[in-house]
Formats: sequence, C-alpha cells, structure tokens
Amino acid sequence: MKTIIEPFRIKSVEPIRMTTREERRELIEKAHFNLFGLHSDDVLIDLLTDSGTGAMSSAQWAAVMRGDESYAGSPSFYRFEAAVKDLMPFTHVIPTHQGRAAEAILFSMFGGPGRHIPSNTHFDTTRGNIEASGARGDDLVIAEGRDPASDHPFKGNMDLDRLEAYLENHGDAVPCVMLTITNNAGGGQPVSLDNIRGTAALARRFGKPFFIDGCRFAENAWFIKQRESGQGDRSIPDIVRDCFAEADGMTMSAKKDAFGNIGGWLALNDDALAERARNHLIRTEGFPTYGGLAGRDLEALAQGLSEIVDEDYLRYRVRTMSYIIEHLDRLGVPVVKPAGGHAVFVDARSWLPQIPPLEYPGQALAVALYELGGIRSCEIGTVMFGMQPDGTEQPAAMDLVRLAIPRRTYTQSHIDYVLEVFEEVASMKDSLTGFGITRQPELMRHFTCCFEGIEK
Ligand SMILES: *Cc1c(COP(=O)(O)O)cnc(C)c1O
Repeated sequence: MKTIIEPFRIKSVEPIRMTTREERRELIEKAHFNLFGLHSDDVLIDLLTDSGTGAMSSAQWAAVMRGDESYAGSPSFYRFEAAVKDLMPFTHVIPTHQGRAAEAILFSMFGGPGRHIPSNTHFDTTRGNIEASGARGDDLVIAEGRDPASDHPFKGNMDLDRLEAYLENHGDAVPCVMLTITNNAGGGQPVSLDNIRGTAALARRFGKPFFIDGCRFAENAWFIKQRESGQGDRSIPDIVRDCFAEADGMTMSAKKDAFGNIGGWLALNDDALAERARNHLIRTEGFPTYGGLAGRDLEALAQGLSEIVDEDYLRYRVRTMSYIIEHLDRLGVPVVKPAGGHAVFVDARSWLPQIPPLEYPGQALAVALYELGGIRSCEIGTVMFGMQPDGTEQPAAMDLVRLAIPRRTYTQSHIDYVLEVFEEVASMKDSLTGFGITRQPELMRHFTCCFEGIEK
C-alpha cells in the first residue's frame, strides 16, 4: 500500500471552532498582529509548537487513573523510572516539571562565569540557563547544518574537528559537552549514531562529561534506522539504548518524545552529582520521587515512552513532514530540506523578496496564514533573533516560519487544508507587505511585542 495511514483511531475529540476571514482579520488586529496574543480557540490549526500539544492514548489516560499521589515512594515514580531506564540506561533518573528545570539543575552544577559549553546547537532554554549561570554556550553544528539547501542526511551532526579544536583551546574552561537530538534549533535535523559516538569519544579523551539533550530521541533513532548504514535492521529501542549508552547523563522535555502534556527529567550516572542534583531538586521542584509532577503525570509518561518507539507511529510521524515538504515544493514554496522530525520550516525571506528582513517577512507570512486560513505558525527569524545586546537591530541569519506538528493530533485532511491555504497565499503573495514593531519588551520580544502593518 502506498498511503501511510494514521496508525490510530479517534476515541475522543475536541471541536475546532470555525471562524471567517473577516473575524480573523479583526482578531489578529486586536492581538497587535502577534500570534502569541491570540486565544487558541480562535485558531483552526495550531502549529505554534509540538511541545505538550500531542494527543495522549487511551492507555495513557487509563494510566492517569492509576496515578498514586503519595509524597514519597509512589509506585508511579518507580514505573516511570523503569520506563526511562529501559531506554536510557542511566543510574539516576530525576523527574522535573519540564526540560528547562532539568537544565537549570544541570547548569547550577556545570555552569558559572568563565565557562564555555559546546553543543551542536543549544536550544533557547538551554542557552538561557547556561547564560544565566554566567557561562557561554557555543554552537558547533557541521557547516551543512547551516545551509537550508543542503540535503546531508544528518544535518544535526556536531562538527568534530571544530569540537576538538574547541576542547584544545578552552581546556579547563569547558565543564562538559552537550549534544541535542534532534537538533531542534537547527530545523529538527538528526544526529547520526556515528557522530554521537565521535562526540562522546572526544569528550572522554579530554576528560569531560557528555550530556545529551534527548527531547526528540525517538525521531532521531528513526532517522538513524532509515539513513545510517548498518542500522536498518535494528529495533528502535536498541538504537536508542546505543545512543544514550555513550553519555554520562541527559536532560529531557517529556512534552516532546514521551507523549506528555507536561514533564521532564535529568538523568546521571555519577552518584555524587546525582546527590547534588537531588538536593537542588528538593529546593526547587519537589521530593525526588515526584519532581515537579503529579503521580498521574509520571504514569502517563511511563506509558508514553513505550508508545513513542513504535515504528508504525514513527513512520507516520516523519512521513507527515516529508508529505508537507513535497507538496510545498510543488507549489514553489521554499523550505528547509530535508524534512526534519517535528516541523517544517518555510524560507519566508526568499519567498517574499519584496519585504526586507527588517520589515519581518516571516511575520508577514505567519499573519497571512492566520488571516487566510486560521493557521497559527511561528516566526523564527528577525523578530525572534534580530535584537542585539547593544540595542541595535540586525537581520537574523534566516527569516523562517515554522510549522510545528503536534503528535497524533491532526489528520491528513487537516494537513491538506494547510497546503490549500499555502496555495491561496501563493496566489496573492506579491501583495503582502511587511510590519513594524510599535512596542517591545527588553528580552525575548517575540512573545509579547506589538506590530503594525506597513502600507505600501
Ligand atoms: C523543548 C525543549 C527544551 C525545553 O523543554 P521544556 O519542557 O519546554 O522546558 C530543551 N531542549 C530542546 C531541544 C527542546 O526542544
């Protein structure tokens, strides 16, 4: 059979409230053209993020009912711990309310002024936690990973030559090495098992602990199985175990590849570090057998981990992205290739050449997608990255619009609808104009800044 169907049936539904183009025009104007300002029930297809927005399975909801809310020693914790260790063989598993809480604990131990922490690409909360500690984060992804047109199969790979030079140059200032799988901030691109091993070997040679940010570990393992020589016949859980066997610890957002609406963890092998981490946890998150979570959340994650490594799910998951990219390609919409694991990135700067970067082509496209079709996407470009520490503004490296796909949430007809909206945008895109910012906060302006349209 040619069609890869959704490998699930629908048991419980949430209605989508329909709106007209005129209503959406009013709603987005009232939100000052910032999509974060919309009420989500005014959105038809919400592709703002894949974080915590996935659908839980009937087995997960059943597990929720089994949640034991004991303060200490809940059986729900032990089921969660066993499910994590089955895939990620670390000695200590410490639950947290989200990935960023795990990062905050890790960098309370490894960060600090004068320190340098390399990764392929740090995710923004990871970078935020590193910088808040006084340390700096550096991104050493391979050159192909920065080229939207390159179709390298593992564009998330660490540049091992640059990492080696970095470790030689910075010596004792480097407390640890990190690696993000898949490389979210770099387009959801995967890292090969060979590259994970190469990164681990360099870290070992220089005596540095090696941590994996494992948020999309299952999507990454699927790409390894599909694209890496010698891996095609192996099971996803075996590939996952091989990836994490190389590391000394990991941080995780369970809102991604654990099918959770909330949750995360920090895992470590070192006993002394784990004790320090747990002490920090007790102060900021909670007792070590619940972290920042309810027992029912821990149950949902334990069940979710057994579902996320299912090959039928992963085949369908990754096919969704390649399906969108194939169709956008046919419409002449420029996209970052090859398809990543969780999102599609549209190159708004090259699609809307009449809008200069400082008039935010990504924002113009995101607003048009909402107005024409009720789709909420996310600008990843000059709005997000253009503000410099000295208060001046520079075009970002690229002006992208991200369509992040929530897990198991939308059907193929929803996706076909999204493609139809793009077709409609394509027919009038030359008339789109840019935006100016009328008000912005000091930090992370994209969440709350106000825009006004520039009339031409
Ligand atoms: C989402 C994410 C995080 C942060 O996790 P939260 O659960 O949102 O705090 C860290 N790293 C990567 C790669 C992520 O995608």
